[in-house]
Amino acid sequence: MHIPFSRVCCEGNELLYIKEVLKSGWLTTASKTLEFEKKFAQKTGAKYACAVNSCTAALHLALEALGVKSGDNVFVPSMTFTATAEVVRYMGAHPVFLDVEYQTNLITPSIVQDAINRYPQVKHLIVVHFGGHPAEMYNDEGDGIIDICKRNGIKIIEDAAHAFPASINEKAVGSLGDITCFSFYANKTITTGEGGMVTTNNQELYERIKVMRLHGINRDVWNRFTCGSAAWEYDVVAPGFKYNMPDLNAAVGLAQLEQADAFREARMRIALNYLELLSNVNWIDLPLCRVDYSYHAWHLFFIVIKPDAPVTRDRFIEIMNRNGVGTSVHYKPLYRMSYYRDHYNLEASHYPQSERMWHGTVSLPIYPQLSLSQIKRVVKVIESMASQKVSFVDNIK
Ligand SMILES: *Cc1c(COP(=O)(O)O)cnc(C)c1O
Repeated sequence: MHIPFSRVCCEGNELLYIKEVLKSGWLTTASKTLEFEKKFAQKTGAKYACAVNSCTAALHLALEALGVKSGDNVFVPSMTFTATAEVVRYMGAHPVFLDVEYQTNLITPSIVQDAINRYPQVKHLIVVHFGGHPAEMYNDEGDGIIDICKRNGIKIIEDAAHAFPASINEKAVGSLGDITCFSFYANKTITTGEGGMVTTNNQELYERIKVMRLHGINRDVWNRFTCGSAAWEYDVVAPGFKYNMPDLNAAVGLAQLEQADAFREARMRIALNYLELLSNVNWIDLPLCRVDYSYHAWHLFFIVIKPDAPVTRDRFIEIMNRNGVGTSVHYKPLYRMSYYRDHYNLEASHYPQSERMWHGTVSLPIYPQLSLSQIKRVVKVIESMASQKVSFVDNIK
């Protein structure tokens, strides 16, 4: 029996909507994309949504619209996918990596406050809602990440690639801060194959992002052919990008959006099962959930193998593999990647909590089709490792 780490779930209206697109003759950005944007904005409670062809594109457009300049510095969490930091380099700016909280991989208000004290010149922060857990943007004390950033004139870009749908006290991720970026890559919580979305409540930012999404042209192609006068004419206001989402992808997105709540419910059930069934395994740390379970998107379920565990993280993955269970690691911290490490002369010892995570972290399968008996099997393989002791092979490594 093989249990893969990740599986897409496309059993809704995906084919139906794709057929509609093929019949319509408009394969690129047109009515399906507009409908997807409208429904996504409704779902997140954001005023504006702009569909793009990846979350990386969304992040790039967000930084551009917020005016990040060459030579600027931008706060970026160390525990994230490289896209979060590479877009900073696209602008000629430099990432300043922040350590994260153990067992959540999140940036916290106190991490942000410390960073501001140490680097007062930095005016932009990218927050990652890691694994689908919304970061502490607001709290009862009025001391959340958004409050701290407002007081210090810092603009926030939210990387919500893991966090759809997620919320804080009924307010959805996507309508919390200045700009939020979502991913619909194949293994994310909903997918369009490749795709992303920018949401914002700020009209000016929205207009800029919309223009820069398509070559810096001031009217998109579909509008030009459907709104009558001087249909051939357009102006170019900036050297923009080619980041629009095709209708074929939006068709899949619309069908996925209809299932997003059911998917999230299913992943939450799996997470609760893991939390319960793994609670007696004393050589691992479980992920902390600091919000209501129903606010969490549960994109990832990661555990941390403790230093004194009967197996190392690498051996853990090997044993899972041999027993037909797929796993993954989120992430090797960015200061350990040769480009960032060498370019910025970074030292792992400056990021103690990220290091603790990195040495032990493993992500377990979590997707709607995963059955209770499969979950139990994953847990059984993990429990079996307790009797392994440190093997001869491990000793001579
Ligand atoms: C997947 C991911 C991205 C990039 O998303 P794409 O849609 O593939 O560009 C960015 N940030 C994080 C945290 C991700 O996991």
